[in-house]
Amino acid sequence: MNDKIMKGMDIMRVSQLLNPTLREVPAEAEIISHKLMLRAGLIRKSASGLYTYLPLGLRVLRKIESIVREEMDAKGGQEVLMPIMQPAELWKESGRWDVYGAELFRLKDRHNREFCLGPTHEEIITDLVRGEIRSYKQLPVLLYQIQNKYRDERRPRFGLMRGREFVMKDLYSFDRDEAGLHENYVKMYDAYCRIFSRCGLTYRPVEADPGAIGGTGGSHEFMVLADSGENSVVYCSGCDYAANMEKSECRPQATEDTAPEGQRALVPTPGVKSIDDLSKFLAVPKSSLVKSLLYQGDEKTFLVLIRGDRTLNEIKLNNALGGFISLQLAAPELVENILGCGPGSVGPVGVPEGLMVIADAEVPLMKRAVCGANKAEHHYVDAIPGQDFRIDQVHDLRMVEPGEECLKCGAPLKEARGIEVGQVFKLGTKYSKALGANYLDENGVEKSCVMGCYGVGVSRTIAAAIEQNHDDNGIIWPMPIAPYHCIIVTASTKDALVVETADKLYQELKNLGVEVVLDDRDERAGVKFKDADLVGYPLRVTLGSKTLANGQVELRERKTGETHLVQVADLAQQVKEIIDKALLC
Ligand code: ATP
Ligand code: MG
Repeated sequence: MNDKIMKGMDIMRVSQLLNPTLREVPAEAEIISHKLMLRAGLIRKSASGLYTYLPLGLRVLRKIESIVREEMDAKGGQEVLMPIMQPAELWKESGRWDVYGAELFRLKDRHNREFCLGPTHEEIITDLVRGEIRSYKQLPVLLYQIQNKYRDERRPRFGLMRGREFVMKDLYSFDRDEAGLHENYVKMYDAYCRIFSRCGLTYRPVEADPGAIGGTGGSHEFMVLADSGENSVVYCSGCDYAANMEKSECRPQATEDTAPEGQRALVPTPGVKSIDDLSKFLAVPKSSLVKSLLYQGDEKTFLVLIRGDRTLNEIKLNNALGGFISLQLAAPELVENILGCGPGSVGPVGVPEGLMVIADAEVPLMKRAVCGANKAEHHYVDAIPGQDFRIDQVHDLRMVEPGEECLKCGAPLKEARGIEVGQVFKLGTKYSKALGANYLDENGVEKSCVMGCYGVGVSRTIAAAIEQNHDDNGIIWPMPIAPYHCIIVTASTKDALVVETADKLYQELKNLGVEVVLDDRDERAGVKFKDADLVGYPLRVTLGSKTLANGQVELRERKTGETHLVQVADLAQQVKEIIDKALLC
């Protein structure tokens, strides 16, 4: 091979790059990150929730992985790689085979043995540790992997945001006791802050509900703040309190009602269908109404009461009830069977003895209430909680509302939207007890390992980064996760000086460690600029005949749109300095 060909080969030329950009917005994409990832030629869909990463998309993924890996290693994490396919036996041992439900991809081998595709790896890692760890001297141990996870999501959507196959970093900590777990939890919390800062993202750690993964200790989610986020978070305007809306505790507030003077009365309410209708029909505020909802948790039923102006928080409800695999509103037929009326007429007065009545903490504070009468088109007015109807349990069951007082400091709470990119959990001994991951302490006493688990949605982080960093023209990558730092655009491919200088600058930049591509396509400059903006390269160097005749090239920053002319001789060094500064944080 001659020299020229050799030289040409190590230039990453856009003419050779598999980067199919699209002008049209693909119909299937709803949110901006999904649209832009398709348009910028970063991913392509294979099937619902399954994507191929094209070269530029994969580079972003690998960069985030490297940041995650560095931060895990810095905290003493040891990288392993576990099988994606997991035997059902382990899931049966932990009790999750039945609990995980339809999200678990299940399969059988040729011998009819059952397996699943790992949605998470607590079982496998705990099985590993029970076989390998014997003594307190081997603890703590932090093991992690970066790998595809599989979840048959009810609604796979938004591209990489909610896939059925996605890349997760999962680390599991094993400690002797709660104090050790806490120490590692703090370490991981800190590492997560560093990861998302290093990715150049604006994020917030929030208190979270541990959800299906279980465990009784604490949990935090890391939310990238973006209006399109699926999660609602509340944060305090006065202190550092922040929580997922689902988790945020509320202070019960009494209404200003006065106690009724007369007796509870049954009133006809023809045509009234909703809480709004009822409030208008009776001319009472919604805060004087009690919503009564019949819920079914596995085989059991419960009557749930909450003030008419509040929203029920099903996660709090399920936690209060002890955690059902499936908790849902009872079907109309069941309501009819138990209470003899339709769901819209349900109320707490005179319900069967065996039906547990669970109320939000504000209901007992009501002096008088309007509630369903278990009779079509009728309601009770002036019903007194605790007197006219029974309440068996009282819990905080409602959604917090922006403007309410922070329980920590009293300042008003605010609301923001967030994308969950990571979560940390204190698992305790849930899995080590179930699977028998024990160690011998100094006195030879056998104890259960105390576990934590810590996940980063690596692929979702790409989508979150785009949601947070884009404009009408395309993606604006934060430097640390950009597929390449810089693109060189030849505005004229006919001009030999332009072409030669572009190759030369490419080599100079590459020698300085700058990640660079060269748009050598025989396209109009405007087309190349559009693509460069769409893909979101942080820096663009443009070589045109006119400026180059004066020994100058144009340097443009994607984020600010700032453009200035730079001497060819100074270009590489200037680019390098801008990148170094951006990577320093
Ligand atoms: P979600 O509530 O969004 O379904 P999760 O709480 O079930 O997520 P975890 O079990 O906490 O998810 O998983 C760790 C991380 O993996 C999440 O914080 C998220 O960033 C990422 N993740 C979870 N499910 C998906 C998915 N379907 N597609 C892409 N990333 C995901
Ligand atoms: Mg989570």
